[in-house]
Amino acid sequence: MDEVLKNLPKQAKDKHKENKKFFSKLKKKPPKHLDVLMQELHDNEFERTDCLTCANCCKTTGPLFTDKDVKRISKFLKMKPQAFVETYLRVDEEQDYVLQQVPCTFLGEDNKCSIYEVRPKACAEFPHTDRRKFQQIGNLTLKNVAICPAAFNIVEEMKKRLP
Ligand code: SF4
Ligand code: SF4
Repeated sequence: MDEVLKNLPKQAKDKHKENKKFFSKLKKKPPKHLDVLMQELHDNEFERTDCLTCANCCKTTGPLFTDKDVKRISKFLKMKPQAFVETYLRVDEEQDYVLQQVPCTFLGEDNKCSIYEVRPKACAEFPHTDRRKFQQIGNLTLKNVAICPAAFNIVEEMKKRLP
């Protein structure tokens, strides 16, 4: 996995133009079966990919924390929401709560998340490749393929299946 992660940014960069064109076309005319196809591609890829050998999302980029996330996680940690925010989060340029630092504080040496059961919604849904109306998140996916090897493979497979 180390080698895969090392090469991923360059591979994503090499595919960027092609992917951008693909997503722009997809957004204009999404196929009717896109939701079903994405679920299939996502499930197939994550049968092969073990996130515990990777954790690149947790190491290099952080999730947004919604108010609901803050409430749920602080309760789990037996902290007051305000204390949780002050200890772990900051407000970014878009006025969203994000981690103060990456790799994420909650990531263990074994790549396990210490707040897994209550982790932010954005973590649970990353890399969003099984979401409905996938054509709407082309720009986000263009960034995610440089972070997530599974997302990269899914997009490559999409291009084969939707030429
Ligand atoms: S979601 Fe992607 S980046 Fe995150 S651990 Fe799994 S394969 Fe790696
Ligand atoms: S909260 Fe857990 S899943 Fe989310 S970035 Fe941190 S370690 Fe990863």
